[in-house]
Amino acid sequence: MQEITQIIQQLPIDPLTGSVSVPIYQTATFVQEAPGVHKGFDYARSNNPTRLVLENLIAQLEDGSKGLAFASGLAAIDCVLKLLKSGDEIIAVDDIYGGSFRMFTHVYEKFGIKVHYLDASNPTNILHALKPQTKLVWLETPTNPTLKIADIAAIARYAHAADAWVVVDNTFASPALQKPLQLGADIVLHSATKYLAGHSDVIGGLLAVRDEALGQQLKFLQNACGNILGPWDSWLTIRGIETLPLRMEAHCRNALAVAQTLASHPLVDTVYYPGLPQHPGHEVAAIQQKGFGGIVTFTLKEDTEATAKAFLQQTRYFRLAESLGGVKSLAAHPATMTHKSIPRERRLQAGVKDSLIRLSCGIEAAQDLTDDILQSLQSIQKHTNTLIAH
Ligand SMILES: *Cc1c(COP(=O)(O)O)cnc(C)c1O
Repeated sequence: MQEITQIIQQLPIDPLTGSVSVPIYQTATFVQEAPGVHKGFDYARSNNPTRLVLENLIAQLEDGSKGLAFASGLAAIDCVLKLLKSGDEIIAVDDIYGGSFRMFTHVYEKFGIKVHYLDASNPTNILHALKPQTKLVWLETPTNPTLKIADIAAIARYAHAADAWVVVDNTFASPALQKPLQLGADIVLHSATKYLAGHSDVIGGLLAVRDEALGQQLKFLQNACGNILGPWDSWLTIRGIETLPLRMEAHCRNALAVAQTLASHPLVDTVYYPGLPQHPGHEVAAIQQKGFGGIVTFTLKEDTEATAKAFLQQTRYFRLAESLGGVKSLAAHPATMTHKSIPRERRLQAGVKDSLIRLSCGIEAAQDLTDDILQSLQSIQKHTNTLIAH
């Protein structure tokens, strides 16, 4: 993690005042010395000094040449989609983030962009699906919520041979754990709302690319369409990133403890965590990631919505909420929350069973989190026993 701490350490000190914190430039415009003569800033949709610090920071963290900051993760995704034209096609992971699926299906399909979904944990599935019309291969790794792993380097080789770009939604890993551009991806994107901002207090999105021409194209689209992150939220995201390496260490440590606790409990059916040796993506994750992340997903032996809900009623540290990646632990029931817009059949195919619970492990003491899981499982055991007794 040293490399990341060095990048963070080099965040600029304000030359005017020496302020150690990046100033928030809350301005819409900038005075010019003569028409067209200015200090690199003319209008704050095009460039804002606070946002620029964040954009340079994500470019460095992801080992790219250009970074861009957007009003949300979906706004960043929208900008990437605008690289395409009617007739172009996308190959995407089948358990893609629900919001990306909704945008592809209900916004971009009517403009003539087709998306094919497949299981990317086997790279040859991608190889066989590539066509001349394929412009983007859209990966998430680890995926949501069953944490499937895609081999970025292998897929990038196949995609580049077919002249397609590889996009990696790196939200779940963060650049502290995984650097897709180094592995051959062309575009990396983040919902900065999650681990990068890290405190569940801002909605934001980030892109980073290595190729300068591609960076300029995306910058043009962002400015032309106006989807930018404001200066306050840019500042909050910078401040969040300053503790990213420390937080990710704690998230990974806690998630492993929680995964192990769940894996040895009699009421638990399957535990999904790439850090467990039995996880199908464990070996690839061990190569391409520096840590296994803070998300743990599991199903219960009694696979019903009611049992999952009983569990979620009892947790004290894990608060029931959408979202993930913050310092405070959160729990979610994908079948009725994040994935409720996906038809049940499709949802079950993606492994999202009725009892599936997703945990976002925060940075609390590991013992408190494992105790919380155990007491909540104990209470559903009572609940289950009562059902049997009656
Ligand atoms: C949350 C999320 C998004 C969308 O980001 P927003 O900031 O909510 O717009 C995209 N991808 C993944 C993997 C996410 O978890």
